[in-house]
Amino acid sequence: MWKLYEVKEGGVVRKNRQCPKCRNFLAQMKNRVYCGGCGYTEIKK
Ligand SMILES: [Zn+2]
Repeated sequence: MWKLYEVKEGGVVRKNRQCPKCRNFLAQMKNRVYCGGCGYTEIKK
């Protein structure tokens, strides 16, 4: 269980989404995601 959990945890952390415009990785903010490439911002509710 321990080893399985560690691997799973690492996968969850890396689930960064990609920008629909320029395909850069979106930076995860508190309540929004931001793209440093084109400035695309998506606000979460
Ligand atoms: Zn972008």
